[in-house]
Amino acid sequence: MTYHSSPMTIRFPFGVPVACLALAMTLPVSAQQPQRPPVRAITRIAGDLYRVQDSDHYTMFLVTPAGIILADPISADAATWLKAQLTARFPNAPVRYVLYSHHHQDHASGAAVFNDTAEIVGHENFAAALAAAAGQNAVAAKRYAAVLPPESTYRDRRTIALGGRRVEMIYAGRTGHAPDLTILHFPAERVVFGADFMAVRTVPGSNTMGNGAPIEEYVNALKRVEALDFDIAAPGHGPVGTRRDIADHRRYFEQIAARVSQGIKAGRTLDELQAAKIMDEFREWIEYDEDNDVNIANAYKTLSAPGR
Ligand SMILES: [Zn+2]
Ligand SMILES: [Zn+2]
Repeated sequence: MTYHSSPMTIRFPFGVPVACLALAMTLPVSAQQPQRPPVRAITRIAGDLYRVQDSDHYTMFLVTPAGIILADPISADAATWLKAQLTARFPNAPVRYVLYSHHHQDHASGAAVFNDTAEIVGHENFAAALAAAAGQNAVAAKRYAAVLPPESTYRDRRTIALGGRRVEMIYAGRTGHAPDLTILHFPAERVVFGADFMAVRTVPGSNTMGNGAPIEEYVNALKRVEALDFDIAAPGHGPVGTRRDIADHRRYFEQIAARVSQGIKAGRTLDELQAAKIMDEFREWIEYDEDNDVNIANAYKTLSAPGR
């Protein structure tokens, strides 16, 4: 393990919360942050399973005697760099699979780099979600042009077997973040991978609770992760952790829903709930200062909507 110091001290290098996808799509190019050199690294997690960093995005790959199983390609640039790294380190192991976590372009771009040898696999909702995202406007169409739809899909669960190794793809269920979230479970290595709905000691971003979708969906998705047999959680953003961190992440969603709901019933305003520091036990988490009050506001809006 070669993680920088203690995971608690890791900050996202660009100072931006996880993948501000919606924001990035609506800002003109000139208003976006200037390009900085990406921070890239490959770290062994367990056995032949590796974690790949591309600045604030992460993916994984498993090396087997019959080739490599890769999770998200992340971007065309990252995939091109990774392919060169893999060719140098594992010259006899072509990438045989690309397994998507979900369709968002900041995780799923670049699979074309591996498509000469790899089968691209994603959830059955991926292609429709991709078409909808790309069809929003011209900027989105351009950003999503590098995302290839899956060549094969699954509905609830699928086993990818290669060279005597196994990866399980498990549907996390529909969430407000995406309708096609996949959990990757590496049973022999006892590791899980998933992006954007699961994180370690990191407050969920505004791209989770920001669109009025039920908060229970995230609780249910995280329960599906917790039901798996694993020791290490290696999310698409931020530090790695343990199963306890996944349970804590689930508790964040449970607590914010319960406390905001209680506050609404008691007639308290949003400002009062934010001032009352109702999520104070999470104050040491990454992105707390940036995202916690936003999440309370989003939960407040969702939970006070008619019909709730
Ligand atoms: Zn993300
Ligand atoms: Zn996403």
